[in-house]
Amino acid sequence: METLLQVQEICKYYRMGEVQITAVDHVSFSVEKGEFVVIVGASGAGKTTVLNLLGGMDTCDSGSILVDGTDITKLRKRKLAAYRRFDIGFVFQFYNLIPVLNVVENITLPVLMDGRKVNDARLQELLDTLGLRGREKHLPNQLSGGQQQRVAIARALINKPKILLADEPTGNLDSRTGQEVMELLCEIFRERNTTFILSSHDPQMQCYTDRTVYFSDGKIEIENHHTGEENAQ
Ligand code: ATP
Repeated sequence: METLLQVQEICKYYRMGEVQITAVDHVSFSVEKGEFVVIVGASGAGKTTVLNLLGGMDTCDSGSILVDGTDITKLRKRKLAAYRRFDIGFVFQFYNLIPVLNVVENITLPVLMDGRKVNDARLQELLDTLGLRGREKHLPNQLSGGQQQRVAIARALINKPKILLADEPTGNLDSRTGQEVMELLCEIFRERNTTFILSSHDPQMQCYTDRTVYFSDGKIEIENHHTGEENAQ
């Protein structure tokens, strides 16, 4: 196995007047290429903050995050923007689709924003994989929550990211739709050479993944590796 991500002693503090909140407290872990990891923790444990730091959407107060050997905490603005666009795919709990753009426009937005040409074969493949065929021209408000999240997943994958980060991707869905979305994510994970890191408050998520990292008060409490047999049960 090859290490893709090495998180070393990262800290993130929020200052609110005189009060300092420690959102992430000296956290270290690493992720292998092709691993599927879930970060589990209660509300306020620091899951979103960690994913935002890994995705280069927020900055650490200390520590380093090595992605394929490059410390992204040291990158200048332009290189960090390129990292966010090309190396990372991000799926949010509340989809974050653009309401006035249709399904295809939302999915291809990351490509068009860079002034590049859309790879039509890739787009068609994503529409098929994510069950969005026939919905190409629909606006987000004409879709169910599960369909909107599938559009968001396709948008996150359009640039073939090195790492897919998903922050509570099923948190806004009913349990059946959430299960369908998770099964779809697992299928995509198995078929592609991608690394997935997602967050959840639900310990049951471990049945889908290789490893669970439990967070509490901004710290790692414990890490569990899962075996194939265990996941198949
Ligand atoms: P949830 O499951 O509710 O989304 P979480 O595990 O993702 O929670 P975070 O959102 O990472 O937790 O928050 C970690 C801590 O940092 C919390 O105490 C939160 O109140 C605090 N926090 C997060 N963002 C900010 C901010 N912008 N300003 C001040 N405090 C913040």
